[in-house]
Amino acid sequence: MRSILFGLGTLLLLAGCGGPSVDRSDSFIVIDAGHGGHDSGAVGAAGLYEKTLVLAIAKRAAKKFKSMGYRVHLTRANDKFIKLSGRTKIADRKDAKVFISIHANAIGDKSRFSQVQGIETYYLQKTRDAKSQRIAALENAAVLQGTDILSKNVIIDSVLNGPKIIESNKLAIDVQRQMVKYVKSGYSDVKDGGVRPAPFYVLVGASRPSVLIEVGYLTNPKERARLFTSDYQERIAKGIVSGATRYIDNRKRELGF
Ligand SMILES: [Zn+2]
Repeated sequence: MRSILFGLGTLLLLAGCGGPSVDRSDSFIVIDAGHGGHDSGAVGAAGLYEKTLVLAIAKRAAKKFKSMGYRVHLTRANDKFIKLSGRTKIADRKDAKVFISIHANAIGDKSRFSQVQGIETYYLQKTRDAKSQRIAALENAAVLQGTDILSKNVIIDSVLNGPKIIESNKLAIDVQRQMVKYVKSGYSDVKDGGVRPAPFYVLVGASRPSVLIEVGYLTNPKERARLFTSDYQERIAKGIVSGATRYIDNRKRELGF
């Protein structure tokens, strides 16, 4: 009896934590750490690279997803460059529930380095918003090398009216909300940059609900210092996992997905 009670208690405890007692083995997550290899992404002071930061966060998130019973695939697990098509193809081949691309931000105007900061989550959509366009242009530059402008417009137009935009928007809202919650509980002055539409090409090929996260600005000295600590990275990773789990659980209830 004692062992039964103990077993039941453990089960309840695991269920309460969203632990492995919940069967999530049918839920496959693809996490994409941006850039890699010759493409460093944004560069902060003293050679602090976006590619290094986002890989560290991607690995932390992957570990957490796995501990909850999800199956996870990282588009890259080390410092190598992956072509755009290779990143999203994995999401389709693995029948992923969600595709999460992780990046860090930067601005060019030095006079505003100390002011511009915060966490933002993007989903694929055309927009007239100048800020979103600027950030997308920066992130698109490396992945679009060798693709002509006509092909770029064809691929982006082909997905813009799909149902995935609505789902990706919902995923973005859940992920952004949870990241901000976990980070703000330790760093109350962090800016919630919100959920925004933007034409990111890395999201174009994914036929799954997909988001691109900008975890913070490497050009902001305070935010940069925080981003390279394990405490801050853990909070971001927890937020990503918690947000994606909420999204997936809600969709399961709604759609039997
Ligand atoms: Zn990036």
